[in-house]
Amino acid sequence: MYNKYAYEKYDENKFSSEITPFCEDYRVFLSKSKTERLATRNAVELAIAHGYKRLDSVASLKPGDKVYDVNRDKNVVLFVIGTEKITNGINILGAHIDSPRIDLKQNPLYESTSFALLDTHYYGGIKKYQWVARPLSLIGVIYKKDGSVVEVNIGDNPNDPVFGISDLLIHLSQEQLTKPAAKVIEGENLDVTLGSLALTEGENKDVKSNVLRILKGKYGVEEDDFVSAEIEVVPQGEAKDYGIDKSMIAGYGHDDRVCAYTSLRAILDVENPKRTSCCILVDKEEIGSVGATGAQSRYFENVIAELMEKNGEYSELNLRRCLTNSKMLSSDVSAGVDPLFLSVNELKNSAYLNKGIVFNKYTGSRGKSGCNDASPKFIAEIRNVLDEEGIYYQTSELGRVDLGGGGTIAYILANLNMDVIDAGIAVLNMHAPMEIVSKIDVYEAYRAYKAFLLKI
Ligand code: MN
Ligand code: MN
Repeated sequence: MYNKYAYEKYDENKFSSEITPFCEDYRVFLSKSKTERLATRNAVELAIAHGYKRLDSVASLKPGDKVYDVNRDKNVVLFVIGTEKITNGINILGAHIDSPRIDLKQNPLYESTSFALLDTHYYGGIKKYQWVARPLSLIGVIYKKDGSVVEVNIGDNPNDPVFGISDLLIHLSQEQLTKPAAKVIEGENLDVTLGSLALTEGENKDVKSNVLRILKGKYGVEEDDFVSAEIEVVPQGEAKDYGIDKSMIAGYGHDDRVCAYTSLRAILDVENPKRTSCCILVDKEEIGSVGATGAQSRYFENVIAELMEKNGEYSELNLRRCLTNSKMLSSDVSAGVDPLFLSVNELKNSAYLNKGIVFNKYTGSRGKSGCNDASPKFIAEIRNVLDEEGIYYQTSELGRVDLGGGGTIAYILANLNMDVIDAGIAVLNMHAPMEIVSKIDVYEAYRAYKAFLLKI
């Protein structure tokens, strides 16, 4: 059902029996998946609970089998083997599980005017002024030289301290407030306060030594171990229902864990499909899909090759044919129309909260640069299935022509010569520490993803 508010069809019962429980599961998942590592771990846990086996633990594959694989703890892929040959192509849902945030530098710790601070480098596109004077958590890993790993997760447990980045008091901000918003808080000034007490005894009576002593006691790590750490500074606290009618969810990292979770739930519901179903959750989208765990990595092709080897279908040519015959929804969020910022949209071609899943042919800028520009034939096929299933959907561009733009993983998979279109959930406050989605859209996206896997 195209371009209609979905609540026109819904009643209280639909909310209490279907939408609310689904979205509560999502809210909990989001709250405990603030890094790509945690999202991967939590996705794998769900897959195992649904009978998925690790790909390298099975010798051969037959229709109906469910397998998953994990790439370097930050990138996960799931498959349900279809009755058709894999060579004939697979149906893929691809989402990213990294979100904009602030990362610690490799040599982060310093002391200034009797504060210990952590120097950072932000990750992805953020409005820096949104990240100051608010509670933050530190989540990540520290690898030691002996190969052992220490997990860090401070801020989100009720008894934990929280962290933060200072902003200047209003009383002395006359000069600061004349700066453009991009300069009000400088990237190099996004430093996290770690402590303020100096040791009272021993050789080094300074604050830095004291926080190092605490880190040594808690984690057994030395200052140099930060070199091989990956610690992310993320908004503290749980995702919450948003609005007096609880129609929305406010939380950190909807982009793109909301599409990752709904894609994941969709494949977990798939039993005995005709075409092989796939859900891939990638890392690094927010910095250009680079690296071994990003969408540009050969990992995806390699894992399909492994799959075909275990299915008895592998040859280089069959792998190429599989990719050519595959179809994909690039499950990523869209910019929802915000009543306070109407001028950035062309309202006929914009995404609205509560109108269901959003299809984006053009996410790019400057004459569709960087977009998927999906084929109309493929779009017609999808429309047909969604209408048959009574699923709400809409189409959108990312803002008015020539106002900005953004990227997704769609074009990367399209480079393998498969049909791809962006399809996801409308978000308000995208990339802010608190993003907003509509529960109806979360549920409709999940239904759409499932229909795509089973009916296309
Ligand atoms: Mn995204
Ligand atoms: Mn993004």
